[in-house]
Parts: sequence; structure tokens; C-alpha cells
Amino acid sequence: MTNHMVSTIRSRAPKADRVFISVPATKGAPRRDLTYGDALAASSRMARALVARGVVPGDRVAVQVEKSPEAIILYLACLRAGAVYLPLNTAYTLAELEYFLGDAEPRVVVAAPERAAEIEPLASRLGVAFTETLGVDGQSGTLLELASLCEPAFEDVPRGADDLAAILYTSGTTGRSKGAMLSHGNLASNALTLAEAWRFTPDDVLLHALPIFHTHGLFVATNVTLMAGSSMIFLPRFEPDEIMRLMPAATVLMGVPTFYVRLLQHPELGRETTRGMRLFVSGSAPLLAETHAAWAERTGYAILERYGMTETNMNASNPYDGERVAGTVGPPLPGVEIRVTDPDTGAPLAQGEIGMVEIRGPNVFKGYWRMPEKTSAEFRLDGFFISGDLGMIDPRGYLHIVGRGKDLVITGGYNVYPKEVETEIDAIPGVAESAVIGVAHPDFGEGVTAIVIRKPGAQVDERTILSALEGRLARYKLPKRVLFAEALPRNTMGKVQKNLLRDENKDLYARTKAG
Ligand code: AMP
Repeated sequence: MTNHMVSTIRSRAPKADRVFISVPATKGAPRRDLTYGDALAASSRMARALVARGVVPGDRVAVQVEKSPEAIILYLACLRAGAVYLPLNTAYTLAELEYFLGDAEPRVVVAAPERAAEIEPLASRLGVAFTETLGVDGQSGTLLELASLCEPAFEDVPRGADDLAAILYTSGTTGRSKGAMLSHGNLASNALTLAEAWRFTPDDVLLHALPIFHTHGLFVATNVTLMAGSSMIFLPRFEPDEIMRLMPAATVLMGVPTFYVRLLQHPELGRETTRGMRLFVSGSAPLLAETHAAWAERTGYAILERYGMTETNMNASNPYDGERVAGTVGPPLPGVEIRVTDPDTGAPLAQGEIGMVEIRGPNVFKGYWRMPEKTSAEFRLDGFFISGDLGMIDPRGYLHIVGRGKDLVITGGYNVYPKEVETEIDAIPGVAESAVIGVAHPDFGEGVTAIVIRKPGAQVDERTILSALEGRLARYKLPKRVLFAEALPRNTMGKVQKNLLRDENKDLYARTKAG
């Protein structure tokens, strides 16, 4: 048996002298280029270092480090050693780490050098055998010290398609975060499908400004690059000036919708500055149709929106060649099945009806780590995964995501899909964006509540919004209150955190009644 994921990458024969990851020069450090040949040698050394720490196939290696090429080398080393790569959000606090390390029981924890002193005692209390460190400069950290003593050759540990490659904890806005178990087959099949669907070649250079502890930056961006033998320019964070500066050296940008919103505010964005690009991909949160239109107008490119999640990798994508329709995430990717069902009964719904999005295919994860009940509750007997997203399939066969099921507002017994109300509000002059949530209401169960962000200088108020919506939406869908804010709370992946908005406003109608 070969090592499924690694041999799939090898079979694509990336050229040894082709740059895999390039880190632009900064004030303090020169540019760093790591070729595919370098990555192979460095991951051999790192795999040996892991084995020296007693890592055996199936062991978890938990990693909470800043973004660097070496973190990707560590990911490759884990794959090659048959270990399970477990990246953790760099923002997690010690208290949060306690849960993840206790739950995942890794053999090794790799921490940023500056956090090792606080993480090491916690890890050893939880029975983790080794805490190592890894810096961002390609030289610092105990893991690199250990690796530098090892031979640059390693025989890949055999792994089948069903063996675990990674555990990614879901962002978990309600309840405990769950560890999604992803197999070698999940990762390899999705990366091959995407590389083909998006026409990646060895000549591509991807501008990579996403975090690498999340499925978007780690799997979508990095695995697709690996499968095509392309290059990535690695940026520590998204910074519009830096993206604009580097764009002439790149061909593809992958981002969350906020990237595009912010780049549109950049005076240099235009046809000339984007001339060398061939593809702009957006995902992880809904891209507003307005952003899609503004981008097309400024650059001449239609952003390609795709849809996926930690548990499933990518499920649907607007086409490379066909029509990219704003506000949709396109048809299912080849090999992936998507159906829309009645959320209560699971019965399939007709095209055009809104219901639960369910997914089946080689991309769908193996279940939640040590949570068999949660896992079986989220799969149908015929193998479809119940995504938790509500959606609809249009006559073209394109999927529309209407929002998370738990964001659905039920008011006076009627279902209100926030996106429908948000789309109407966003179309009102003076509105930049909006979020619609359900807030406990003494008469209606939940009251439809809108939080609106004004465009700079706009005067629009609650009365203007409500009168603009009159006649455009059924009465029960109209917001009971429209509130204004400076910005919507978003997480690192650009998702609006509606749970925070619900929390902040939970007494809104109670207060109104009392007052
Ligand atoms: P995560 O597991 O953090 O990647 O989050 C996955 C969730 O992000 C999905 O279940 C959707 O709710 C949302 N999502 C991802 N891509 C899109 C998209 N293109 N449009 C709307 N929602 C999206």
C-alpha cells in the first residue's frame, strides 16, 4: 500500500525546482523561496523528527503556530508519517487549548516559541508526551533543531484512502467545538476535483493571505496548489496594499468575501492591475451580489463563488467556463451529490423549494472525533451528511445558500429566511450591509430584527428602511425593529457572528414592552 494523499501528490509529479511557497521580503528579512524539492527534503527531516518523538500512525500532532512555510512542511510530514495533523486557531486561549488537547490527546504539541512557556505545563498535565516549538523564520524552534539532525530521506508510511489525515475542529458557535475527522481520501479527492475544475497548472501562482488552521487556507488553497504543482505567495495576513503590490506576480486569488469588499476600496484596483490574473475565488461566507457586480465592473472578472465546510471540503462551485451567477454557489462539484430536504422529515424537496442541504461524496468526512452520537445524528441512513445549511436548487441546477438552519427566524409560526430580508434591505440606497436575526418576542415567539450598517455619510434610518420594505416583503417578514451599528461582528473567516448579535439584543423586545 502507498501513502494515499502523498502518493496522489507525487503522481502529479510537481517539478523539484519549481517554487512551492514564496515568502516576500519584509523589512527585517529577505524573500524566502521553498521549492518542491526543498519541501520534500524538509518534510522527510520533519517526519523523522516526529518519529523520533515516538509518533506512530494514527497519533495526533496538535499545531498552534503562526503561518509559515514550515507549518505546511509539518503538515506534509504528518501525512508522510501517517500521523493526524491537527491545526488550531492561533487565537485560542489557554483555557480553550485545554479542551482541544484534552479531547484530541495528541502525542506532540507544536507551539509558537513565544507561547511555549504557558502551553508546555498545560500539555504535560494533560499527558501530552512532547511540546515542541516552531517559529516563522524557517530557523527557529525546537522542532527544526531536531529535524536538522535528521536525514533528508523518509519512506512514506502506507496509508489507505480511509485512514485519517487531519482533524479540524469546527468553529462551533453553539455548544462544544467538534473535531471533524478527514481522511486521506477526503483530501485527495477534493483537491484533485478542484484543481481540475479551476484549471490549475504548474504555471499558476496563488496569492495566499488566508490563515492555515482552517479548511480554506489549508486544504482548498494548499492542497490544490500541491496537486497542480503550482506556486503560492504566502502572506501572514490579508493586507490590501500588499495584495495589490503582489498581484502582478500572481494568477489566482482565493479569499473570503471581506477580501473583495476591502480590495474594492483600494484606489489602484482596476483592469490594469488585475491584468495578469486569471481567477478570483470566494468562499467561507456569502458574497453579496453587489460585491460581485462591483468587482466585475472594476476589473472585468466575475468572482467565482464556491461552497464548502470543514466537514465536507468543497461541495459546489460556480463553473470556470460557464456562467458564474452572483448569489449562488453553482452546481455540485463532479462526484459530489447535493440534495435539499425537509428539515423535519428528511424527505427530498422539489427544485426551487428551500430546505436542508445534504451532501454525499468522497469529500465528506468520517465523523466527529469521539462523538459517535453527534456523528450518527448528522448523517442519514443512505450516507448523506446533514449540513445545517438551508438552501435551494434553481432551474439551472445551481445551489443557493439561504443561511444556517439555526439562523432561521420563526415568527408567529412562520419561517423567515434571513437572507431574503437582508437582500431587500441591502438594496435600499444608503445601506452598506445588514444582518437579520430572530430575537425572543413576547407575542411572536421571535421577532424579525435587522441590524443595518449605513454607507459612509448616508442618512437612512429605521423609518426609511421599514417603509422601503413595505410591499416588497410579506408583512410577517418585515423587521419588528431596525437597529444600526458601525460594523457587523465577523470571525477570521469573514462570517457574520449572528450568535453575538442575538446575545447583544436578547432583551430588545422585553425592554420595549416594559418601557
Ligand atoms: P467552515 O466549516 O468554517 O468552513 O464553515 C462552513 C460554513 O460556511 C458553511 O456551512 C456555510 O454556512 C458557510 N459558507 C461557506 N461557503 C459559503 C458560501 N459561498 N456562501 C454562503 N455560505 C457559505
